[in-house]
Amino acid sequence: MKNISKNVSLVFLLSILCACTGTDSDLKGFPLSHQQILKHLRTANEVAKEAVKSGYYPFGAVLVAPDGETVLMKQENLGTIEHAETELSRRAFAKYDSDYLWSCTLVTTFEPCCMCAGNIYWANIGNVVYGATETTLKKMTGDNKMNPTMNLPCRRVFKAGQKPIRVVGPFPELEDELVAPHRAFWKR
Ligand SMILES: [Zn+2]
Repeated sequence: MKNISKNVSLVFLLSILCACTGTDSDLKGFPLSHQQILKHLRTANEVAKEAVKSGYYPFGAVLVAPDGETVLMKQENLGTIEHAETELSRRAFAKYDSDYLWSCTLVTTFEPCCMCAGNIYWANIGNVVYGATETTLKKMTGDNKMNPTMNLPCRRVFKAGQKPIRVVGPFPELEDELVAPHRAFWKR
């Protein structure tokens, strides 16, 4: 009996460890492969760079179809409250059936804040990928009034809800690329 409970604890511990990173082990049954995730994160990062050119902040998100390949929508940041993921969730909810959205994936360069996680939840988008953590972002933005980054992991927000939204991230192999557009931006 003791051994069984030890094994159960070990499996539980491992599942927590896997759920906290973007390793392949937690991609079992996820609609996107590791390679597709990296590709879509890079696309989202291009959207983030476009946002800066348009006069906004360097954040970008894309909505990926259940096939894991097709990009249905792209959305750049549009301001302090118009975050890329919130805007994308609202547009997606207006355009697509909510059952369909449950099989789609929102891919975003940085971990969604609690406002965006809330919008993703209410839009019924079932899968989320983020490249770098909110903590990494906070180190760069500091208390900048344009983006006073919070500290509330999106997994904690989703866990407070009533549906099992799947989250994968961060992906440290892309951190340098994703952080690059922010380094110069938040210093000004
Ligand atoms: Zn947000």
